[in-house]
Amino acid sequence: MKTEKLYEKDAYISSFEANVLSVLKENGIYKAVLDKTAFFPEGGGQPSDIGLIDGAAVNNVQIENGEIYHYTEAELKAGQTVFCEVDFERRYNFMQNHTAEHIVSGLVHKKFGFDNIGFHLSETLVTFDFNGFFTSGQLEEIEGEANKRVWSNLSVTAFYPSADELQAIPYRSKDGIEGEIRLVQIENTDICACCAPHVKSTGEIGIIKFLSTEKQHGGTRIFMKCGGFALRDYGKKNADIKAVCELLSAKTDEVRQAVYSLSERLESEKLNSKDLSSELLGLKIKMFDNSKSALVLNNAEIKDLQMAADGLHKTYGGAKTALSKTVEGAFFAMCADESEIEAEFERLKQTFTVKGGGRGPMRQGSIVADFDKIKEYFGV
Ligand SMILES: [Zn+2]
Repeated sequence: MKTEKLYEKDAYISSFEANVLSVLKENGIYKAVLDKTAFFPEGGGQPSDIGLIDGAAVNNVQIENGEIYHYTEAELKAGQTVFCEVDFERRYNFMQNHTAEHIVSGLVHKKFGFDNIGFHLSETLVTFDFNGFFTSGQLEEIEGEANKRVWSNLSVTAFYPSADELQAIPYRSKDGIEGEIRLVQIENTDICACCAPHVKSTGEIGIIKFLSTEKQHGGTRIFMKCGGFALRDYGKKNADIKAVCELLSAKTDEVRQAVYSLSERLESEKLNSKDLSSELLGLKIKMFDNSKSALVLNNAEIKDLQMAADGLHKTYGGAKTALSKTVEGAFFAMCADESEIEAEFERLKQTFTVKGGGRGPMRQGSIVADFDKIKEYFGV
C-alpha cells in the first residue's frame, strides 16, 4: 500500500492536502489513490467516510487489492495536489458509537465471558451480537457500568505491538483480522484488535443507550445508540411524545396511562357500536320489502352480510341475499333452504363472474359486475 493512513495517526484530521498517485475509471466512477488520506475505508463493521476532494464528492472509500481507493464523481489527475475534506460530523458520530461498542463488548466479556461475534454500524444505529444470553437485569447492569466508564473520561489509545509484545497482551479479537495487529486500549476497561478510528477519551461518547435486544444465531443482538445518534433519537422521541401529549391533552409523564385509557374507551365503543349495528340490522330486516330478494348494506363485511341474509331467510323464507357495493361490484351472502341454495347459487354464477362458495344453507363471496346490474338481478 502506497497510502499513508492519516486516520490511524490522528482520528481528528478532518481536512488535509494530498497528492494524487493514480486514477482508475471503472463503470463511470473514478477511483483515486492518494499519497496520504484521512478518509477511513469501509472495514470492521464501520461504513467508509464520505466528503470532498477538490470540491468533487467522495461517496465511497474501499481497500481493494491492498490499495485505498477514493470513489469520486469527478475525474482527478495523477500528480495533482488536492484539498480533501472528510464529512467529520458523520465520522465523529461513528467514532463515538464505535468506541462505545468496545466498552460494552469489553465489559460483557469480563463479566459474562461472551464474545462479540458481529458488529454493524449504520448511519443511525449500532447492532452487535454476543454468543450468549442476558437477563434484562444483566443488560441494565452493563449499560449502567458502560455509562460510568463514559463519565470517568478514560483514555483511548491505539498502538501496533511487536509480535513478542502481542504474546503478553490479553486482547479481544474480531474474526477476519489479517496482517499487522493494531490494538485499541480503553483505560482499565478493554483491549481489542481494531482498524477503525475512535475518540481519544470516553467522555466524548456522551451517552450509551441500549434500545432493544433480540435472540439471534444462538445468542443476543443488541441495538444501541450513542453520542450524536442518541441525541438525535432523543430529539425525535421527545417531539413524538409532545405531539401525542397534545392530541391526548396529557402531560408527558402521564402519556402511557392516557394511551391505556384511550385504548379501553375504544374497546368499549367497539362493543357499543356492535350492539347498535345488530339493532339496526334487526330493524332493517323488520322493514324489509319482501317483494325483493336482496338487501343492500353500506360498507359491510362478509360476516355482517351472512347475518343479514340469515335473518332475512329466517323471517321471510325463500332465497335471500345481502349485498355491499365494492369497487369491482359487490360482496354478497345468500341464504336459502338447503334444497334450493345450490340452484340459486348456480343461477347467479351463470349470470355474473362470481368468486366464492359455502356450505349448508349459505353461499358468500364477491360478484364482479356493474353494481346496478347486480341490483337489477335481485330486483332491488
Ligand atoms: Zn474499533
